[in-house]
Amino acid sequence: MEVYLSNQLLVTSGSGFFSVQQQHRGRKMAAAQSDRDPPSLLCSEFLHFSAKDTALRWLAAADLQQEVCRHLAVYVPRILCLGPSGGSSWEEQREEQREDLASQLLLLAPLEWFLLGEEPATGLHLLQENNQPSPLCGHVFKVGEPTYSCRECAADPTCVLCMKCFLGSTHKEHRYRMTTSAGGGFCDCGDAEAWKRAPYCQQHSLAPREAEEVRQDPVSLLPADMAARGFSIFSILLKYAVDLLTWNQENQENLLPAGLEPPSRQDTYYCMLFNDEVHTYEQVIYTLQKAVNCSQKEAVSFATTVDRDGRKSVRYGDFQFCDQAKSVIVRNTGRQSKPLRVQVMHSSVVAHQCFALRALSWLGQIIQYSDGLRRVLCEVGLQKGPEGEYSSLVDKLMLNDSKMWKGARNIYHQLLMNSLLMDLKYKKIFAIQFAKNYRRLQTDFMEDDHERLVSVTSLSVQLFTVPTMARMLMVEEDLMTTIIRTFVDHLRHRDLQGRFQFDRYTAQQAFKFGRVQSLIGDLKYVLISRPSEWSDQLRMKFLEGLDAFLELLKCMQGMDPVVRQVGQHIEMEPEWEAAFTLQMKLTHIISMIQEWCSTDERVLTEAYRKCLRALSLCHGGLPDGEQPISLSLAGHSVETFRYQVSQDKVSIHLPVCRLLAGLHVLLSRTEVASRFPEQLPLGELSPPLLIELPLRCLVLCAQVHAGMWRRNGFSLINQIYYYHNVKCRVEMFDKDIIMLQAGAAMMDPNHFLMIVLSRFELFHIFSSADCRKRYREANKDVVQQNNTLIEEMLHLIIMVVGERYVSGVGQVEPSDEVRREIIHQLSIRPMAHSELVKALPENGNKETGLERVIDSVASFKKPGVTGRGLYELRPEWNKHFNLYFHHFSRADQSKAEEAQRKLRRQNAQTTDLPPPPPPRLCPLFGSLVNLLQCDVLLAVEDAVLQWAAEPTGAGWTESMLQRVLHLVGVALLEEEQQLESSSRDDDITFNYSCKITCPGEAPSTSGSALALLESLQNAPHLEVHKDMITWILKTFANIKTMRERTSSTFTAPVCQGQGPEETVRDKDKAERKRKAEMARLRREKIMAQMSEMQKHFINENKELFQQSLEELEASTSAAVDNSPPSLESTCAAQVCVGPRRVGGAERRQLVTCILCQEEQEVRGQGRAMVLAAFIQRSTVLSKNRRCNDPERHDPLFMNPDLSLGIHTASCGHIMHATCWQRYFEAVQLKEQRRQQRLRGHTSYDVENGEFLCPLCECLSNTVIPLLPHTHTPDFRLDHPSLEAWLKMTNQQITALHSAHRKPSDGVAEGAGPAVPEGFRVDFTPQNPFSSSVREMITTFSMSTYKLGLKLNPNEQDHRVPVLSWSTCAYTIQSTERLLMEEDRPLFGSLPCRQDDCLSALTRFSSACWSAAPPTTVQSHFIRLLAALVPDSQVENSLSILDIDMFHLLVYSVMSYSSVHSLNQSQQRVVDSAHLHLLHLVTVAHLVQILLTSTTVEVCMDQDGGASEEEELTCQLYNTLRKHLGSVLPEVTSGWQLLRCLKDGVLPFLRAAALFFHYLNSTAPPVDLLVAGPGQWDVLCTFLNLPSNLLQLHQTQHTLLEPLIHRWCCHPSVRQTLQVSGVIIKFPRESNQLIQLPEDYSVLINQASSFTCPRSGGDKSRAPTLCLVCGSMLCSQSYCCQTEVDGEDVGACTAHTSTCGAGLGLFLRVRESQVLFVAGKTKGCFYPPPYLDDYGETDQGLKRGNPLHLCLERYRKIERLWRQHGVAEVIGHAQEADQTLVAIDWQHL
Ligand SMILES: [Zn+2]
Ligand SMILES: [Zn+2]
Ligand SMILES: [Zn+2]
Ligand SMILES: [Zn+2]
Ligand SMILES: [Zn+2]
Ligand SMILES: [Zn+2]
Ligand SMILES: [Zn+2]
Repeated sequence: MEVYLSNQLLVTSGSGFFSVQQQHRGRKMAAAQSDRDPPSLLCSEFLHFSAKDTALRWLAAADLQQEVCRHLAVYVPRILCLGPSGGSSWEEQREEQREDLASQLLLLAPLEWFLLGEEPATGLHLLQENNQPSPLCGHVFKVGEPTYSCRECAADPTCVLCMKCFLGSTHKEHRYRMTTSAGGGFCDCGDAEAWKRAPYCQQHSLAPREAEEVRQDPVSLLPADMAARGFSIFSILLKYAVDLLTWNQENQENLLPAGLEPPSRQDTYYCMLFNDEVHTYEQVIYTLQKAVNCSQKEAVSFATTVDRDGRKSVRYGDFQFCDQAKSVIVRNTGRQSKPLRVQVMHSSVVAHQCFALRALSWLGQIIQYSDGLRRVLCEVGLQKGPEGEYSSLVDKLMLNDSKMWKGARNIYHQLLMNSLLMDLKYKKIFAIQFAKNYRRLQTDFMEDDHERLVSVTSLSVQLFTVPTMARMLMVEEDLMTTIIRTFVDHLRHRDLQGRFQFDRYTAQQAFKFGRVQSLIGDLKYVLISRPSEWSDQLRMKFLEGLDAFLELLKCMQGMDPVVRQVGQHIEMEPEWEAAFTLQMKLTHIISMIQEWCSTDERVLTEAYRKCLRALSLCHGGLPDGEQPISLSLAGHSVETFRYQVSQDKVSIHLPVCRLLAGLHVLLSRTEVASRFPEQLPLGELSPPLLIELPLRCLVLCAQVHAGMWRRNGFSLINQIYYYHNVKCRVEMFDKDIIMLQAGAAMMDPNHFLMIVLSRFELFHIFSSADCRKRYREANKDVVQQNNTLIEEMLHLIIMVVGERYVSGVGQVEPSDEVRREIIHQLSIRPMAHSELVKALPENGNKETGLERVIDSVASFKKPGVTGRGLYELRPEWNKHFNLYFHHFSRADQSKAEEAQRKLRRQNAQTTDLPPPPPPRLCPLFGSLVNLLQCDVLLAVEDAVLQWAAEPTGAGWTESMLQRVLHLVGVALLEEEQQLESSSRDDDITFNYSCKITCPGEAPSTSGSALALLESLQNAPHLEVHKDMITWILKTFANIKTMRERTSSTFTAPVCQGQGPEETVRDKDKAERKRKAEMARLRREKIMAQMSEMQKHFINENKELFQQSLEELEASTSAAVDNSPPSLESTCAAQVCVGPRRVGGAERRQLVTCILCQEEQEVRGQGRAMVLAAFIQRSTVLSKNRRCNDPERHDPLFMNPDLSLGIHTASCGHIMHATCWQRYFEAVQLKEQRRQQRLRGHTSYDVENGEFLCPLCECLSNTVIPLLPHTHTPDFRLDHPSLEAWLKMTNQQITALHSAHRKPSDGVAEGAGPAVPEGFRVDFTPQNPFSSSVREMITTFSMSTYKLGLKLNPNEQDHRVPVLSWSTCAYTIQSTERLLMEEDRPLFGSLPCRQDDCLSALTRFSSACWSAAPPTTVQSHFIRLLAALVPDSQVENSLSILDIDMFHLLVYSVMSYSSVHSLNQSQQRVVDSAHLHLLHLVTVAHLVQILLTSTTVEVCMDQDGGASEEEELTCQLYNTLRKHLGSVLPEVTSGWQLLRCLKDGVLPFLRAAALFFHYLNSTAPPVDLLVAGPGQWDVLCTFLNLPSNLLQLHQTQHTLLEPLIHRWCCHPSVRQTLQVSGVIIKFPRESNQLIQLPEDYSVLINQASSFTCPRSGGDKSRAPTLCLVCGSMLCSQSYCCQTEVDGEDVGACTAHTSTCGAGLGLFLRVRESQVLFVAGKTKGCFYPPPYLDDYGETDQGLKRGNPLHLCLERYRKIERLWRQHGVAEVIGHAQEADQTLVAIDWQHL
């Protein structure tokens, strides 16, 4: 079975191993116990072996076979299968290599020498050179390889090309379909029969003419002696292989076939385990662990091999040892089912079988070199053996197919494909042999439990789809009859009438039924192409086949009959699916048989006769036993018999009738039908009998609709559904309508209608007025039931007279039929291409004909970034809309009606939906129109119209009236058309208008139908029908005029007649227009009011409006509005850092809790308010995805490669901390209770602190406390210089050093160092926050710690504050990158939620030190500063090349507070310190950039003198060179250096601006609110930096010089620059998702050649591409499971743990699906960025349209990733679709 995603991934549901066809790759031997050493590679005797001498000896031998066998008998058991290879895969591989080498040297080389008569390499080369290969490509497809089929040129959909041929063919310009191979088939390039056009690609173009002869006899190209040697050696080898592969030792006396007995027999055996389709992987793995005492890992490996190759030895040793394992396995698996097949085999048998497979592969390879040798092999294979017929070696293989194990089958099937199927002559002979064996092969296949792909029967597709071959087999081998008979024979269970009876099937029979269906596939291949010419023999054989087919249909006719259940509900739903499966599978066959018949009139008439006869046999006894009754109505009477659908048996399955209906239509299309209808073979059955069964079936549907069959349960509902469904309707519902049409056309219309009335059980209602009255007084249910039945009956009549879009019924083309379907589908709503395809029936070639007509009726609208392309009906086709279109379901009908009426209202038209003009009927159906004007129908119409006149009447319905009006309309249109097309009045037999004018003989008493209509026109209760009645009256008036015109010679009245009418119409129109206009104005007014209200509402409830991710992209919502009103904007230069900065504390922050709706001010001492937030690890910015060890990871210094960051996001929703806590506790409680009830997951993991935002359901895992703004500093204070500040800080640090040391050392150092004034190391600052705020600070700190390091919470860990700073720095950094990438302004373009998040996050980080021990934070500061300013007390400081400067800036600013808090002097210099730190870090960053950015020099002439900036840059650079010397290249261009410098430092400056903006709540300068270049100066000013940054260095030259010296002389700087060379350059380029190819098939091809990295060259089942790094993974498979954190996970999850820090974006190549995974439990699928030409994705690659990359969609995915929005998307997807929650994502 194939592995599909279901609710439970990777759990086989009891139906066997996974099986994927794979190339056998030699057997590996391993066993649990190894009791002897592995044999040495090659013993000395082997080394002295000469292949040449051996070959010479063979040449001289008298009995070659004996010689060769003796050689094999000696060597094979000594080379292969020498015991268990060791447990490790390395040893196993070595053993395999040894076996390969030895068999090549000792076994195959002599064969090659013998065959070629010279050195093999030379010989083979020569062979190939002389070969004139046939133009067939014959490339055999691997699993998952892309295949291409041309929808325009392929003979049938099974004809495919390989990628190479396809790209070299003209078909790539055509409409093609692309699929992935299931493996096994081959490329049809070069097969002239497979393609209607262009059968050759560039490579396989047809060779010149003279080669033609050679191709007839390729053996002639070989040297004669070689051909002879080939013949003998091939015979011997093939026989050897066949003998061994079919060898069953258990039934033989000898150990081995004659001549192969080994010289000495050892007691060495294998315990061989075979594959079956019954046991699951888990069962096998468990059993093996028990039986052979192996590890779980080994057991998995055994099971995988058994599944792939079909068998595997699990133990090696003496007989008893192996037998013991066997009995354990049998005992363990035999309890519930058939035990696993195990066999104890002698090692030499296994060795010979092993070599037999190698020999077959060798043969397959050798014949690739020469078509001559291939022909020789074919001859050998098909040569009759001594036992006569069916005794060739190929026969033997085929007939033993089901007994062989999977690996052996695959190898010999491959050989058959390489040999017989590639040789046109022998392909035919083989096909004949295959057809002769067909019955036996199929019977074997029924017994076999392997899937069809590994059965020889699957070769049928290669043989039967070749049209000439199929016809030859049909004529010579009775193929069609054989297939059908075999099929029927295998379905044995019948009822008394000989009909199939599936409900009595046992499980085994049901299984067989599943397998036997492949025969229908074979039949389809045989019939798929219609013959263009018929021979008499073909006619005969086809008709014989038809006989057999009719036998099959007769077994289906009337199967699964139902009887209406009254009283009680049925107890058990009867089985119905099997019958419908059969019907569905046969649908195409039935259609194809009709197509065959349509090509030859003789065949058609004969087929018609046969079908008619079959039907009359089925009908035998139909009227018997049923009393004849006589019906009379409206002056007509008819005889019929008593039968009631509601009481008697009725069946939906009537394939014989329906085939006849199909043939009847075909007959109608023939010449004979129009000229000599009397010659048609009609009339053996009377029309009433023809219509009887289809009519019953249609009445059944009507009764089900009327609710009369409710007690029969769902099985009946399902059957009715499928009866109308697009998959079945062509050969069910449609044909029943046709049969009624055919019958009605041959009958008196009054009789037809009376029978219809009687079968609907409505006759009594219309036959007398009294009855009608009585019935109205009857109980309500019955009234309703009858109303529905009347509606249904009227609908049926509409269909019978109106459905003419079948070529043969009406005068239409097949394309008209398709067009009409499309028009009606698009009348419902605009649809995507795939929706339309699904709504249309496919033919055997999987074509709907859609593409041929779609553009003429619809216009295509391209999709946006989401959604799909849609087709919209062109307005000119609206007039073809028919409300009673027969393929509309009731829901479709009402939707379409609504849409059409709306459309008409919009266009200010009347809302009537009159019938469209009907096409003309074919002669055979011509008299159908008489139904419209027959007395019975008129009587029915009259009755309904009369009832409708009474507004209160319960006995009629609007739909009833609507249908009658429609019928009247159709009749009038019919008359109008006839009048238009004929010149003389008396030609016209149709005079409906006349009949409705005069009162008829019908029960009507109140005058004519016309009069009735006129009176109804203005009836107030019929307002909705007014337009329709008006239309009818107008049409009637029109007809009257026409009749008058034609009857008189006077032509003038035409104009007169139209005059007044025209004005009336105009007036009408004007009035309607005025009304529409008024309505529009009213609407607009209301809309304006609404939008005003909405605006208010949004303003008032701003916080309540969630911003989804979609909005987030588009939003440019002004953060400006949120920022402080710029009181300070009058200041010329606004700065965000330093003593002159502006703060925001003057503003009060009022927020509303989303849970209790209370307003609250944010205060440090107040009630804590929190923001829902989501923290995740991220590698989005990472330049290095290697794994970090969280245990020992010191996060204090972020490496510039940003290998792992922690990102925080928020939906922006604010709550009271207490409200949130209560909410979260409730969630936890609910989850606990829920888990007790059902052990499912939710989309969020409560145990890990996850919850959904109570307002927007956004995934969150923590909360950020909101903190107040900082105060604006006092501008009057002094600002110490950098030097002064450094000096002071150094003193403080020294004081801290000694203070920190004291407690441990206990040594008082007398006079401590000079402590700055007011600095008290032992001071404990007062915590500025209330306890609730403090608690929340701890909560968020712990969350970042826990999630960032994946550790358990530990408040004492010194890394806790660092992680809080880290997520602040990383989130700002990634925001800056995002804004840069998307060209958005630095400020003002972030959505509120992100703005709020950053602001809360930054202010929180600046305060979080207060929750940590002060000494910890102080020592962090000391270490951080030491990275820039030397501190003798700090050891092991990093080089500046190993530090990300922005992180350093953030950390040092944040940690400085802890040092500063000890300063009790009046001089509060915190802002000055920030500015100095910024300066220092900036200079360090400049140096860092200069050190890393100068490897490439572009020599440019300096034009003019260098600017001051450039000169300073050069100066600084030369200083660096002074320290580092030649490590840095010489750069002369100051301009270039400066450019590098500015580009490199810009991201840092931007991030710093964001940081200080949020930290200090400073309003951004106006210039930074817009995007655009030239913002450098503004940015520098905002940051309180000189715009010439070099001045920072210049002005503090003396102070900085020693620092720079120290930075450069750090030992690792030199080393990094010189040796490792892996340097992060600035600006760091943003990461992108990998580049994807434009054409999806390139990806498929790439994936098909991808092999599982773990199981040595095996194809991967689910190749999956990581979109982040481009790795291809072997997903969803046991082989590549890895242990991560103590749990086995699939390749994707394992990969994400390193590549994406737990988050992954993948493309599942076979499924064309994007996969998002997060952690182990979360994931979802996402539409892939590949679209077909119709703007649709193809998830699952089911449709096969060519797919191309849609860059916008890919960018959207990329944006999602960069925004860290993937986890949120997963959360929302899982909330929306609970089935996603149950998938085991970690196994992907
Ligand atoms: Zn090919
Ligand atoms: Zn080709
Ligand atoms: Zn083509
Ligand atoms: Zn609250
Ligand atoms: Zn929210
Ligand atoms: Zn794998
Ligand atoms: Zn990756």
